[in-house]
Formats: sequence, structure tokens, C-alpha cells
Amino acid sequence: MSATLIDGKAIAADLRAKVAAAASRLARDHGLVPGLAVVLVGEDPASAVYVRNKGKATVEAGLASFEHKLAATTSQAELLALVSRLNADPAVHGILVQLPLPPQIDAQAVIEAIDPAKDVDGFHPVNAGRLSAGLPALVPCTPVGCVILAKTVRPQLAGCEAVVVGRSNIVGKPVAQLLLAENCTVTIAHSKTRDLPGVCWRADILVAAVGRPEMIRGDWIKPGAIVIDVGINRVEAGEGKTKLVGDVAFAEAAAVAGAITPVPGGVGPMTIACLLANTLKAASMQAGLPAPA
Ligand code: NDP
Repeated sequence: MSATLIDGKAIAADLRAKVAAAASRLARDHGLVPGLAVVLVGEDPASAVYVRNKGKATVEAGLASFEHKLAATTSQAELLALVSRLNADPAVHGILVQLPLPPQIDAQAVIEAIDPAKDVDGFHPVNAGRLSAGLPALVPCTPVGCVILAKTVRPQLAGCEAVVVGRSNIVGKPVAQLLLAENCTVTIAHSKTRDLPGVCWRADILVAAVGRPEMIRGDWIKPGAIVIDVGINRVEAGEGKTKLVGDVAFAEAAAVAGAITPVPGGVGPMTIACLLANTLKAASMQAGLPAPA
């Protein structure tokens, strides 16, 4: 391996510590404790783990955590009623409804019911629009984490060729917007892209957000590129065991890239850290205070 390993765990711990320090200043100077409400509908085990980890990290950073666990049979009207109560609750500055939701609930309707000022996931169309217009916004956590990780290796991204593979509203599109805001020349690739290896090869910064295990091979990567692997894929590891791999064939890519994120331990830990940072930002903005840097 010749690439520098980008240690998402350590970088996320650093960001969480910064959020904790800023939260304690907010409490001391303004008597304000940012509050994050997380809503889980149903018993999906992966979602339950995420929600537990989010709650733990929230409390550790000195923020208030409000968990709402609802039955899998919850109706859309019941969930919308809870969102409306949380929108009106002054102790709640951020609202996150864990996705996916059960089939009887229209996720988009729920996302659009959240007050954009409390939309710490950054999925509300108002925040997506503000991001794309270059206005202050609550920006989705995983994409922000990707850019923070890339900038630890190359603080000035201006002029870089960036290729984002994946165009979802939660990862691909916002990460592309953020890289554009950093003055990169951005290409967004997707399932209909012709010659994906050739497109990837152009990248100084390659962000993989596809959801296909190890799809991006080492010979698709320009020597020295920064590779940010968002993918989280569980695959068979033999003897009835499973393991997590990214969207990038790690060993091959690490032999040519300049820097690369591992899976696990790369982008994943940044998501929760950026969620805490968004909650702090939302609370500050709701109180009319400047958003912490
Ligand atoms: P989606 O399924 O919503 O989007 C996947 C994207 O990849 C689509 O735009 C799709 O293209 C594109 N794609 C699929 N197949 C190909 C292909 N063969 N060639 C090129 N592009 C392709 O996924 P998400 O954006 O939600 O998530 C992507 C990955 O990131 C997943 O592994 C997910 O688990 C992970 N993830 C990790 C997070 C973290 O905290 N680390 C947070 C969120 C997601 P098209 O639009 O044409 O269909």
C-alpha cells in the first residue's frame, strides 16, 4: 500500500471534541443546550444501532438527546403529528427521522414536514435548494464528512478534477455541490454513464457513493488521487461470517491512490460527528447567534 490512510475515526473524534467545546460555551454564555430529536419507526436492527450510536454521541458531546421509538405499524398521520410537535418544541433544535421508513409512510412527505431550520439531515428541499444556490444551509452530514476528509489531505481543492460516482439526493448530489463550492471541476457519474473507468481516471478526487461492493477497481484510479469511499456493503467472508467493504476495491486502489479512506473507519464515523455539528449550528441559528466555525 502506498496511499496515505485517511483516518476517519480520529478526524471524527476531533470534530466531536470541537462540537463539545462549542456546546459548553453556548451553555455557559447563553444558557442554550442544543437538542437533537431522533425518531425511529419500526425495529430494523441496523437503524436501531445507528439511533443508539447517535443518542450516545449526542449526550457525550453535551447536547440533549430525545429519542422517539415508534411501532412499525405507525401511520403516516401519527408520524407527521410527532414531527409537528417536535417542530414546535423549543428544546428541540434538530430533528432526524431515521430512514428507511415502513412502506405505509411516504418518506418524502415526512422530510418535507420537518421545519427546514431543524432539518439537521439537510434533506428538506429548502436546504437542498439553498445548498445548490450557494446560500447558508443545513447540509447533509455524510457529504460534509467526505469533503472534510478530502481537505485533511489537500486543504485547497480549487481547480481539482472531482468525480462523484452516484447521484442520490442524500450523498451523490450534495457532495457534488460541496465540491463545486470548493471550486473543483465536478463530474457526476451514475448507472447510465459511458466508460465509467475512463471517467473515474480523470479524478484528482474520487468519491464513490454507489452501494456496489468493490466495484471501483485499482486501474480506474489516477495515480496520486484522493479516494473517498462512502459505500457500506456487507458481504460474505467465508465460514458463515460477513464483513463490511466499500464501493472501492481497497487493496488495489491503495496501491495507486495518494490517499484513501478505509471501510469501516473512513466516512462512516464522520456522519454522526457532522450530525452533531449540524445540531449545534441549527441551535445557534435559531437563537440568532452566529453559526460556530
Ligand atoms: P443510492 O442507491 O440511493 O444511489 C446509488 C447511486 O449509484 C445511484 O445514483 C446509481 O445511479 C449509482 N449506481 C448504481 N449502480 C451503478 C453502476 N453500476 N455504475 C455507476 N453508478 C451506479 O445509494 P446512496 O447514495 O444512498 O448510498 C450509496 C452508498 O453509500 C451505499 O453503500 C450506502 O450504504 C452508503 N452510505 C453510507 C453512509 C455513511 O455514513 N458512510 C451514509 C449514506 C449512504 P442511478 O441514479 O443511475 O440509479
